[in-house]
Formats: sequence, C-alpha cells, structure tokens
Amino acid sequence: MIKPVLGEEEAAAVADVVRSGWVAQGPRVAEFEASFAARMAAAHGVATSSCTTALHLALLLAGVGAGDEVVVPSLSFIATANAVRYVGAAPVFADIDLATGNLTPETVEAVLTTRTRAVIAVDQGGVPVDLDAVRAVCDPRGITVVEDAACAAGSTYRGRPAGAGAEISAWSFHPRKLLTTGEGGMLTTGREEWAVRARRLREHAMSVSAAERHAAAGVIIEEYAETGYNYRMTDLQAALGLVQLRRLDAVVARRRELAARYRKLLGEVPGVLTAADPDCGETNYQSFWILLPDGYPVGRDALLRGLFDAGISARRGIMAAHREPAYEGVRADLPATEVFTSRSLILPLFHEMTPVQQERVVEVVAAAR
Ligand SMILES: *Cc1c(COP(=O)(O)O)cnc(C)c1O
Repeated sequence: MIKPVLGEEEAAAVADVVRSGWVAQGPRVAEFEASFAARMAAAHGVATSSCTTALHLALLLAGVGAGDEVVVPSLSFIATANAVRYVGAAPVFADIDLATGNLTPETVEAVLTTRTRAVIAVDQGGVPVDLDAVRAVCDPRGITVVEDAACAAGSTYRGRPAGAGAEISAWSFHPRKLLTTGEGGMLTTGREEWAVRARRLREHAMSVSAAERHAAAGVIIEEYAETGYNYRMTDLQAALGLVQLRRLDAVVARRRELAARYRKLLGEVPGVLTAADPDCGETNYQSFWILLPDGYPVGRDALLRGLFDAGISARRGIMAAHREPAYEGVRADLPATEVFTSRSLILPLFHEMTPVQQERVVEVVAAAR
C-alpha cells in the first residue's frame, strides 16, 4: 500500500509550468529525462506517457514482432504481458523464486525456445531481479533482456541503481509507485540509436520534434518515416517528476526504516515470511508483502478480512496474469507463482506511518493465527 508523498513544492512547480505557457512535452521533459537518467546511471532517458507505453517501445526497439515469443513472469501487473501482445508476439510465462517474487535464470531457461526473442525481467515490488544471472542465459542466445523497473526507482543491484544493468529499462510514475507524475513513464538505455528511435516513436515518428520545430529559426517541414505513437509526457508531469526525484532518497530511506521495523515485529509471528533484500541488492520496499506458507493456520483471504475488519487496508499480493481471462489458454506450469499470488498480501506502509500503527497491523496478523 502506498500514498504518494506530494507537497507544496510539487504544486509550485506545476503552477510555474502553467504560467510559462508551454504545457506539452518541452524543456521540463528534457530536464527530467536528463536528471532521471543520471540518477539511474543510464546514458539516455526517454520520457513516455506510462511504463506500459515504455515497455511497448522497448519491445519495438528490441525488434520483437509477430511470431516471436517473449518470456515474462505471470506474477506481475498485467501490463508486462500485455506489452508483448501489442507487438504481435506471444507472451510465455516463466515461474518465479518465492523468496524474491522474481524470475531466475533457471525459470527463464526452462521456457526458452528457438522463437524466444526477448525476456522482460521485473523487479517485483521493488525487489531487484538478478539481472546478470538472467542475462548470462540470454545474451549468448541473442535474446534481449528488458527490465521492467516500474517499481524499482531507488532500489539497488550489485551496488548500482536497479535498471542500470539492462540494455533497456522501463519505469513507471503512476501514483502507486514511489515517484509519481500522475501518469508517466520512462525508458532508459545505454544505446544512443535506441534512444533516438524511441524519442521519434513516442512522438508520431516525427523526424523533428514539436519543441525543436518551435525553437528553430526558419521553417522546418517534418517527415514521418514509420508508424509512430503518441506516448508523450507533458511538461506539467515532468515538473512534478523533477521535484519527486529530489525526494526519492528520503522516501526510500523512510520505507526501508519502516520495513526493518515490520520485519522485526513480524519476526515474532511464527511462520510468516516477509519481503526482504535479496543477496544481489537492496529493495526500495515499494511493496511490503508477507507470505503465509503452506500449513499456516489462517488463509490469506481470511487474514485480509481480519485486517479490513480492524480498519486496516491491506491488499491481496501481486496478481498473476495467467489466471486472468485475457490469458486463458496460455500454457502456465507455475507452482511458485500459484503459491505467491494466492498466499501473499501487501501490508500498509506509508511515509507518515507511526510505530503504533505498525504494531497494530502486526497485532492483527498475529491474532489471526
Ligand atoms: C505499475 C506497473 C506497470 C505499469 O505501469 P504504468 O505506468 O501504470 O503503465 C508495469 N509493470 C509493473 C511491474 C508495474 O508494477
């Protein structure tokens, strides 16, 4: 559970953009792209309207199309799998590791075929996926690994920002994530030619951007070499994002502090497993989940009801796309995913949460057994 941390600074930044008269994609978007890419140790950032549209562009850049397969975790927000269908390819579901909620090299390798063109590795709930290990399986086969870092702003992987180790990463600024622009996303990449193409594709594949045309001294007639999209971010959103980016470190530090406290309190409830840092990095604890193992005396749904009755708004854990009607008929032999999606729940964790509030949540969890 997450409440965006928004203040007067954000309000003032957006008001400035309104007064400037330029509200569409312009100088603020360019500034946000540069700042975000720098913070995430990426060479290039391309702002988009959402993470979903950034994932779509990422698959286009990777050359994925009809007849190709893309390996994705079923255990993710459904947009991860949907993006594969946008390019006419087939999503292939791989299982996850129960300790992290993420793909592993073994689960990926188990579903690779000669048609696999890309893998979308998700940092689920902010927990960094072991990207190097997944790439070790994929790189030699010419399979592009896209990192769905929607949840991972402020997480780290092997001492660097999460997302920095992938050829392309996609980020979300939806209010359910740690850093929000209302709606919005970003594609980061180390490859300049991909950044250039992504910039074009997000703006109708125009050869010259509207901002460049506006700034030019003479008349410029643009050209459209391929079918593009309108996946632009606005300067209003980017202004918000710039303030949010400055807050990121403090927000993550606070979440890690609250999560450590939860882990300590929950350590005294026998059997409950919790989100934690994996060996390969640190999570921003965007989602603080707990997992009730086999044989736990109370079921997940009963515990959710107990929390609800106590006035605590927890949520079911991460969804699994293969269980949704939209993916009926897609092969899914995913034992760990089944356990995770049906036995996990996400506890409330927000910036201003007090020790008393945390204790109350854990009391209800403990009393349910
Ligand atoms: C939130 C989320 C998305 C979608 O992000 P939008 O910005 O809302 O499009 C994609 N993948 C994952 C893993 C997410 O958590």
